[in-house]
Amino acid sequence: MFGSQEAPDRRLTLRVIPRNEHPVSRQHFSDAALKVLYRLHNAGFEAFLVGGCIRDSLLGRMPKDFDVATDATPEEIRQLFRNSRIIGRRFRIVHVRFGREVIEVTTFRGKPRDDHADHIAQQSDDGLLLRDNVWGNLQEDALRRDFTVNALYYSIADFSLHDFASGIEDIEARTLRLIGDPATRYREDPVRMLRAVRFAAKLDFHLAPSTEAPIHEHAALLLQIPPARLFDEVLKLFMAGHGVDTFHLLRDYGLFAMLFPEADEAMVELPWAERLVELALASTDRRIAEERPVTPAFLFAALLWGPVKLRLAEREAEGMPPIPALQAAAQQVITRQLQHVSIPKRFSMPMRDIWDLQQRLPLRRGRRVFQTREHPRFRAAYDLLLLREEAAELEPGLGDWWTAFQQADEHEQRHLLDKADAGPAGPGTARKRRRRRRKPKGPTDNA
Ligand code: ATP
Ligand code: MG
Repeated sequence: MFGSQEAPDRRLTLRVIPRNEHPVSRQHFSDAALKVLYRLHNAGFEAFLVGGCIRDSLLGRMPKDFDVATDATPEEIRQLFRNSRIIGRRFRIVHVRFGREVIEVTTFRGKPRDDHADHIAQQSDDGLLLRDNVWGNLQEDALRRDFTVNALYYSIADFSLHDFASGIEDIEARTLRLIGDPATRYREDPVRMLRAVRFAAKLDFHLAPSTEAPIHEHAALLLQIPPARLFDEVLKLFMAGHGVDTFHLLRDYGLFAMLFPEADEAMVELPWAERLVELALASTDRRIAEERPVTPAFLFAALLWGPVKLRLAEREAEGMPPIPALQAAAQQVITRQLQHVSIPKRFSMPMRDIWDLQQRLPLRRGRRVFQTREHPRFRAAYDLLLLREEAAELEPGLGDWWTAFQQADEHEQRHLLDKADAGPAGPGTARKRRRRRRKPKGPTDNA
């Protein structure tokens, strides 16, 4: 089942670059990362920094976190660090914790074989690696990594860089290239397609033609990945400061539809739905650049608003009143979405509140307005309203009214309320509003 050895690749020759010939310095690394390296080294193990931290240092960027590779087994690592725990089953690694910083330590991986027991290595009939816990040496480990630029190792023994797959060449050419046969590597782990797109957007790299070519055809393999893993991946895709570029690449490669099928469909049916998502991602990117907080609840609310609107229209066409129709639409959209990308309750609950508030924002009479204003999700709901207007889903007006209302003093607020009562900006006439008031209280009224 574990395919035979691929033909030798001329790119796969080890190059060792001594300390005085590369710019990666210990000053780029956190104290915690260095502590882990030295303790492994002093205990007689090999220890290397690998992955994003070396790639990013070579590109002159601050590493975001540190990954260590070693010949120590997870149990041996556990024994060296009291502050550590073994996580993962599919891919066992050790997390060593120093305050808020976590150093990920992995044991060198080797090539899985058919005679390995299932708890060590296991592969599905279509090539998906279900377990990948065969230990190997440094060279074997390099060939198990995804991209050549992620297979650069910094040795704590002599501070040299080990480049097994022409990673430095690819960094210089700003190229993402999978190690080995791309189709096989995507079948082993389809998330590598998402990682390709994520790194391309983050680093402003392009995909090597051979790495790019199989993506369209293999995109549907993402449907095999557990929704919880895809949730983690989606956060990395959209909440790392390059969401707009990432979104466009995901759409171009047919990957977005595998993560958010209903949102993808809504973008065909509703002229504003794609723009709304772009605007939400642009605002998220901006906030991250300004180091302001962002929440997945807002982003998911915008991503799935198109599908909610489509289903809401269906329920209303069946004669359901607006409030229960929205509840039903929201429930249906969430249920379908959870089959692809999970959304933990702590994000899906506020997401629903943000949707509910879209129905309350147009109701601008008396006490109602103040209740809406006091709602814990008001700010996020108001932000979504502004984006909906900017995306031309709605006529402008209501957003400005709420902007003015928030800035107004008590006297001006009363004036704005009178104006809303008389003005055309609301969803209906005064008579309609009176009718709505006589209706029994919907569940959102209690929020
Ligand atoms: P960043 O942390 O900046 O997002 P990274 O490259 O460090 O990027 P991690 O997810 O931290 O990414 O993974 C660390 C390293 O582990 C990668 O650089 C790569 O060598 C290897 N790796 C991670 N995920 C995979 C995968 N799905 N297949 C093969 N190798 C992987
Ligand atoms: Mg990393």
